[in-house]
Amino acid sequence: MAQYRMMSGDKPVVYFVPADRSRAAVGQILETSGFLAGLKPKKKIGLKVHFGEAGNDNHLDPQFVRAAAVAVSYYNLQPVIIETTALYRGQRQNARDHIKLAKQHGFGMENTLAPIEILDGQHGEKFYDVPLDSTLVPKAKLAQGLRRFRYIINMAHFKGHFVAGFGGVIKNLAMGLAAKAGKLRMHSNSKPFVDPEKCVSCGECVAYCPHDAINFVQYVAKIGRSCAGCGGCLSVCPQGAIRVRWDIASETLQLKMAEYCRAVLLGREVFNLNFALRVTPNCDCYPQTEKPFVEDIGVFASADPVACEQAAYDHIKPKLKKLYPHLDPEILLRAAEKINLGTRQYELVEL
Ligand code: SF4
Ligand code: SF4
Repeated sequence: MAQYRMMSGDKPVVYFVPADRSRAAVGQILETSGFLAGLKPKKKIGLKVHFGEAGNDNHLDPQFVRAAAVAVSYYNLQPVIIETTALYRGQRQNARDHIKLAKQHGFGMENTLAPIEILDGQHGEKFYDVPLDSTLVPKAKLAQGLRRFRYIINMAHFKGHFVAGFGGVIKNLAMGLAAKAGKLRMHSNSKPFVDPEKCVSCGECVAYCPHDAINFVQYVAKIGRSCAGCGGCLSVCPQGAIRVRWDIASETLQLKMAEYCRAVLLGREVFNLNFALRVTPNCDCYPQTEKPFVEDIGVFASADPVACEQAAYDHIKPKLKKLYPHLDPEILLRAAEKINLGTRQYELVEL
């Protein structure tokens, strides 16, 4: 385990900067942690960010990303903002519109000093397999472009989530760096299907499918058995007729996210920041600016993603339980600890 992970005891350090001093938090935390000093210069470093869906202004403040870009540049590393396409219908569904939206939300290079790369191709279809010793996720399907990044600063907006309970640094790596094929498998037990009521027989999906899995049956597109579940057709259909069954249970989603996080971490140096600011009931994929359900807390950061997540979660736990009494969001934390992604014990160091 790298030296920057630990204090003198055996608990990982979680750095904390309270909300009223959060503007300076990123530079201060990265410098104090020593994370960047341990990396080889001249390499690319991914700044993993969620830009927020159109209509949602609760996303991460681009100024935090700029601060990270400045900090890594001091160490002669090349910052690149990394993201993937979304599974659901919206402006983040394909790479071109996603980048356009990111710029509208203030993540253009003039503000952040870093270019944007969408890592899973124009329609989210580009992935590579990471084999895992897991019956639930035998192969994680990660965004193909992630292969070029050994170093990542994981910058997550910490908030609630109506299926998992909450979303922070683990979800930002797991869901956020999976290609559409991976997101599909985390959210659904089946392959996409065509809604015959919406299909206008334009043929776009038939021409696109890289596996020739779509044919017309009585003038309506139908997805056949050779579908590889890449998810690309979801963003190709102009009518939104190709759909996902969002039928995964909360527990399974959380267990799968822990495994996907493991796949992302394999062979990478990752430092995690949970921005517990504007903590809303739903995630930033929600197309509305919701009211936070707790006061702004601050920024938590650690090389240990489980400790970082646990520390942020501990600060919202009572209110989150009231918000989602039917969910057990600790399934994720327990699973992540069990598969050695980190520890739920931590030492909080306020800066
Ligand atoms: S792209 Fe959509 S509307 Fe066009 S044929 Fe395929 S399912 Fe039907
Ligand atoms: S039908 Fe299946 S293989 Fe073809 S684009 Fe859609 S998800 Fe991919």
